[in-house]
Amino acid sequence: MRTLLVTGGCGFIGSNFIRRLLCEDTSVKIINLDKLTYSGNIENLSNIKNRNYKMLKGDICDTQLIKSLFNNYQFDAVVHFAAESHVDRSIDDPNQFLNTNVMGTLALLNGSINYLKKTKKQYFRFLHISTDEVYGSLKNSGKFIETTPYDPSSPYSASKASSDHLVRAWQRTYDLPTLITNCSNNYGPFQFPEKLIPLMIINCLDNKQLPIYGKGDNIRDWLYVNDHCDALITVLKRGKVGETYNIGGENELKNIDVVNKICEILDNEISLDNGQSYKQQIRFVTDRPGHDFRYAIDSSKIKTELGWSPKESFSSGLYKTIKWYLNNKEWWRAIQKKTYNQQRLGVLKQ
Ligand code: NAD
Repeated sequence: MRTLLVTGGCGFIGSNFIRRLLCEDTSVKIINLDKLTYSGNIENLSNIKNRNYKMLKGDICDTQLIKSLFNNYQFDAVVHFAAESHVDRSIDDPNQFLNTNVMGTLALLNGSINYLKKTKKQYFRFLHISTDEVYGSLKNSGKFIETTPYDPSSPYSASKASSDHLVRAWQRTYDLPTLITNCSNNYGPFQFPEKLIPLMIINCLDNKQLPIYGKGDNIRDWLYVNDHCDALITVLKRGKVGETYNIGGENELKNIDVVNKICEILDNEISLDNGQSYKQQIRFVTDRPGHDFRYAIDSSKIKTELGWSPKESFSSGLYKTIKWYLNNKEWWRAIQKKTYNQQRLGVLKQ
């Protein structure tokens, strides 16, 4: 049996990853270390009743905690999702981003190295989940490849870039068996409703305005979260130590087109009483400072070397996502009312 430390597993991508991996691999044991910040939600994994899964509330920056976890569980791999992840919040208050994303990653790297020195373990992997935002902004043509120079624009992407550099340096200097993935914008079930797609779905349903930065011309490459999780499992199993893999969804869309598609699906699913389209709720608002114009990922390396490719089209993935938010109103209503995490927290103290 292999034992994994997953950090940030109560967040959007981490919780989808844990669910998927436990389904796919009955021999894997997962310890999920999550601080339960505002974006971590125990409900995301509340239906998992698997003896091979355990959640611990704690901070990746806590070096003593990390040390004791390595001693207690003898991990075979670390899958590192935990981060402050919202660009707008990073502009308002960068400090926590540097603390978690840089110092937290450092604590995990050092914890891994010390543990490997002590145990002389033959097999170990440190999989660091990063973003395409580290590469900066593209004009109308071209795509990010793994060797594109880093050029981050926001405090968030600068902190993620710093953490990527640390991971690479720890591989070269201390021989830590690392893997890095840089993915494009994810979407799907359990995404915290501050990000574009869930925010727009929920604002439509709540009859609120749909705020879009600038003219909605910014382009993102949308990756369905399950496709991303499959890619991560592939990299974990077959990725070459020291390598970076870009993961994209092959769905480049302008923000305004994403919002229009959401409105069209909702117009069909749950039409407004007045017969109008949800598009009437769209409002263009002052652009975000340093807003990158375009991201696009070239996934050729992971496709050709590891045989992964995305399965979900944007239409099918978006439809599934909207259906999930329609069928799980209590999940996001609890977030709106800030009542999430409260009931289950007592059980989680270490
Ligand atoms: P998220 O904000 O939904 O989840 C982050 C999780 O980390 C939460 O559960 C939170 O409680 C936990 N966390 C935060 N600080 C912590 C700390 N100090 N110690 C322990 N746990 C802590 O984020 P997400 O969207 O699931 O993103 C996961 C990872 O993927 C991040 O590293 C992010 O940079 C990266 N990423 C995300 C996207 C995307 O579109 N969502 C795209 C590219 C890369």
